[in-house]
Amino acid sequence: MSKQVSKYTFFESVSHNFDRAAVYTGLNKGVLSQINSCNSVYRMKFPVRMGEGLNDVEVFEAYRVQHSNHRSPCKGGIRFSMDVNQDEVMALAALMSYKCAIVNVPFGGAKGGIKIDTNKYTEQELERVTRRYTSELVRKNFIGPGIDVPAPDYGTGAREMSWIADTYMAMNNGEIDGLGCVTGKPVTQGGVRGRKEATGLGVFYGIKELCRNKKWMDKVGLSTGVEGKTVVVQGLGNVGYHSAKFFRESGAKIIAIAEYNGSIYNPDGLNEEEVHQHRIKTGSIIDFPGAQNLSNNDEALEMECDILIPAALESVITEENAGRIKAKIIAEAANGPVTVEADKILNDKGVVIVPDIYLNAGGVTVSYFEWLKNLSHVRYGRMEKRFMENSNRGLLDHIDKVTGTKATEDLMDKLAQGPEEVDLVYSGLEETMISSLNDILDTLDKHEDLTSLRTAAFALAIKKIGLAYLELGVFP
Ligand code: GLU
Repeated sequence: MSKQVSKYTFFESVSHNFDRAAVYTGLNKGVLSQINSCNSVYRMKFPVRMGEGLNDVEVFEAYRVQHSNHRSPCKGGIRFSMDVNQDEVMALAALMSYKCAIVNVPFGGAKGGIKIDTNKYTEQELERVTRRYTSELVRKNFIGPGIDVPAPDYGTGAREMSWIADTYMAMNNGEIDGLGCVTGKPVTQGGVRGRKEATGLGVFYGIKELCRNKKWMDKVGLSTGVEGKTVVVQGLGNVGYHSAKFFRESGAKIIAIAEYNGSIYNPDGLNEEEVHQHRIKTGSIIDFPGAQNLSNNDEALEMECDILIPAALESVITEENAGRIKAKIIAEAANGPVTVEADKILNDKGVVIVPDIYLNAGGVTVSYFEWLKNLSHVRYGRMEKRFMENSNRGLLDHIDKVTGTKATEDLMDKLAQGPEEVDLVYSGLEETMISSLNDILDTLDKHEDLTSLRTAAFALAIKKIGLAYLELGVFP
């Protein structure tokens, strides 16, 4: 969002949240100031030939920011959007540092962006821009499996990641771990199964865990469990789509979906895949059969619901509309969707905000799994799948023999199966989201005056990064 909707810039708002939490960490001013600062900002301009003629050149503005190097490599997505600017990339890089710390992913935080309107260019042109950006990063030593590892973000996906990987490999011929220079790649090019849906699935696992917690559900007057909850999703991109999918499959009702060019409502529930297909056919989600069109985006955000999932860009919930939000829980699937001013209004109203630096960390968690796969050069499950299947079968046969029963082949297949890559990725992600939420809740319980999950999450992250710096001997 380029429009100024807060008295803080995006990076200032991250710093503001940092300062509020820093007092709970016991770290000294110097260490805190090192953690809060962005270590390196690389701003570049580069030309790319757009038409056929020699003179048809366009100059692009782009960034890569490494916020912290307490762990290597740095990690964070690359965004393609006209709103990309230095402050935004710095803020997003900082959020990456805290995100990685919370979910125990051993990376520093980084982010990149190209100021570009992707709708204006052909696929070939976008490829040229992406490859040129990558070669700029290589030249300045801002990319590499042990240096800085990009990933998808708003406006990018597996296609762009495969161009990045290919450019990097071409410029670093023979680097055995080269594929680990970027994550979110297609599975056929070193990606991991489950990465595409990882952020949305992480959002679901995180909220599901919170919904299991009676104390927290009592606070907002809801029953435990996801089933039957009403959900509003803002943004039907990769993250919004998959969040909606997992909530719907678990029995929640997606009552409204908001997009930048129209929003729809159906109290009986929407199916995200059908809405997506409708958008492919017609160009927008409006006039979806059986649903009611809403007059604007805000109408969806302000709708009565149990869980509101902002899943697009920053600063959509502001001082201006926060007072009208009726959701009980705000699940921050996007980075920075709630401004500092809105955060205060919502906290005062008793809305539970599950913060971005925890809730959308599923993407980077599975990126970590992908990076490990690239370094180990072996697919998850390859070694143990058959072994586990054989030993499970042996055990089940034995039970049948002892009990005199006979399990059906179907049941046998189901119970005996060894894990596929995607099973392991999902279970690693679920474990991460559950244990990290409980770490945040423990931090909150340790301080009587701490009520916001965001401040507790920041305090937890800052403390971990501070200790990492101190262990490294950066501050003797
Ligand atoms: N862009 C995603 C995020 O904001 C993913 C980053 C990654 O996988 O490195 O968390």
